[in-house]
Amino acid sequence: FFFLAAAAGDVKNYLKYKDPKQPLGVRIRDLLSRMTLQEKIGQMVQVELTVATPDAMKKYFIGSVLSGGGSVPAPKASAETWVKTVNNIQKAALSTRLGIPMIYGIDAVHGHNNVYKATIFPHNVGLGVTRDPQLLKRIGEATALEVRATGIPYVFAPCIAVCRDPRWGRCYESYSEDHRIVQALTEIIPGLQGDLPTNSRKGVPFVAPGKTKVAACAKHYVGDGGTTRGINENNTVISLSGLLNIHMPAYFNAISKGVATVMVSYSSWNGKKMHANHDLVTGFLKNKMKFRGFVISDWQGIDRITSPPGANYSYSVEAGVSAGIDMVMVPYNFTEFIDDLTYQVKNKIIPMSRINDAVQRILRVKFTMGLFENPLADLSLANQLGSQEHRELAREAVRKSLVLLKNGESADEPLVPLPKRAPKILVAGSHADNLGNQCGGWTITWQGLSGNNLTSGTTVLNAIKNTVDPATKVVYDKNPDANFVKSNKFSYAIVVVGEPPYAETFGDSLNLTIPEPGPSTITNVCTSVKCVVIIISGRPVVIQPYLANIDALVAAWLPGTEGQGVADVLFGDYGFTGKLARTWFKTVDQLPMNVGDQHYDPLFPFGFGLTTKSTKH
Ligand code: BGC
Repeated sequence: FFFLAAAAGDVKNYLKYKDPKQPLGVRIRDLLSRMTLQEKIGQMVQVELTVATPDAMKKYFIGSVLSGGGSVPAPKASAETWVKTVNNIQKAALSTRLGIPMIYGIDAVHGHNNVYKATIFPHNVGLGVTRDPQLLKRIGEATALEVRATGIPYVFAPCIAVCRDPRWGRCYESYSEDHRIVQALTEIIPGLQGDLPTNSRKGVPFVAPGKTKVAACAKHYVGDGGTTRGINENNTVISLSGLLNIHMPAYFNAISKGVATVMVSYSSWNGKKMHANHDLVTGFLKNKMKFRGFVISDWQGIDRITSPPGANYSYSVEAGVSAGIDMVMVPYNFTEFIDDLTYQVKNKIIPMSRINDAVQRILRVKFTMGLFENPLADLSLANQLGSQEHRELAREAVRKSLVLLKNGESADEPLVPLPKRAPKILVAGSHADNLGNQCGGWTITWQGLSGNNLTSGTTVLNAIKNTVDPATKVVYDKNPDANFVKSNKFSYAIVVVGEPPYAETFGDSLNLTIPEPGPSTITNVCTSVKCVVIIISGRPVVIQPYLANIDALVAAWLPGTEGQGVADVLFGDYGFTGKLARTWFKTVDQLPMNVGDQHYDPLFPFGFGLTTKSTKH
């Protein structure tokens, strides 16, 4: 009797959507049919960590939470703190009537970059140089493990922008000015999400279920890297065929690799905000490309729909949701958004079918990745965070991302590889001993941090010290004066200068100069001693005026925490192999200038890069 009663109870409590043996479509339809309008709209909402209280999660059925920019539970939060924070929010979501898990997202754009002691990989501008899809895949795998170690299943990466103008403050988030390199490097997506099963259908999102992979996000759809003069969030003026040939191709690759989500760009295309562009979001992405994951807005992206003049918040909500945005990164005033959208659905301004489309896409991703079966994180992956193995991988990526632009006056008199043994060498420059400058923006905080206290890693200076012969005296002077350099007998000098960290609009620049004292350090050092100049920057910068003084020149981009990779190559343990994935201009008035342009007259062309042989391998 008891057995029968229990079995009857099971039948009564049986919920199809909770049964992993049911086909995906059945689970989605079953759950959708049980949801109220309020629960559906809740799924479409993504809020910031700071407002994701358990009460709010429960009361509004919020479907997603993010750590935007550099928002973290506490400064230097440990994996344990992260997991506890994410689980607490998740428990609140699970305690609602239907128990739909929330999905937590974060900007892990060069490793798990907001998290203290995580491995920080080179930014995309450096990875583009490697032209190595398999390396990108391995970086994706490592990043997924580090992100999961903190209980997070979703990353807002990769950025597949094709940056056409280095004046753009986000140029370093782009692999290349050439879409073919960007396309090839979408291979990071299967690294993050897992390999697509062979029987999968085009456009269907795939994230391997379990706890080692994360949902990815191809961003920012579309044309973010093509704005006029590289002005962030601005207008991309280009023909449809230009858009399709340059900025769109990588989305085909991302979608064919099962990318789970796509983020819409703040920018406009020929004057129309992408967040309100129904033709491109619904017509092209969803209908033509058959993308069946979910489309997410950018941070307050809906609020920034401000045209036509006088458009109010209601207008923006309608325009954004009608364009085809499924999940809205609100991220603070969520009650205003929920009230507004509810009103519009109740008054048939936005049809219920649009809401159902959005929700089933979000549920598809959540079901596919096993969030219903594995909603809570544990600490089993905690030792992945900043692991030795991942640091070795980042170091390899650094080695492959360096581009040797000049090496002595002629090929017969190369300066690098540098000898490890020398009586006395000089290391100078604002970026020689500065981990924060090496990592750039999107590191620990949104804008990044200068200095050595942000996280753990190896600066170029320390890497040099680790690499030279113990008998070699390394003198470090951040900004030596010319007489000091002249009066000392240095065998050679290594000058490391570049840009300070920045992100998004704060990085927009019209002059692209290396800030002082960078140029004076180059002059003070290089006029009297053989010197290698290493530039740490998110993009090509003005270098032509100093070039005659410089004996060897290396573009190191934003290498991240593993500065040892720079010394590995500089001293010949490995060879230089990198080729420019961006055109290096002579003067800024040449910009925009990209490979294939009619009047192409660069300082160093796309594809340029000198090589050296490894003395060891
Ligand atoms: C950026 C996105 C990012 C989002 C969340 C926005 O400002 O444009 O790339 O994913 O913030 O931090």
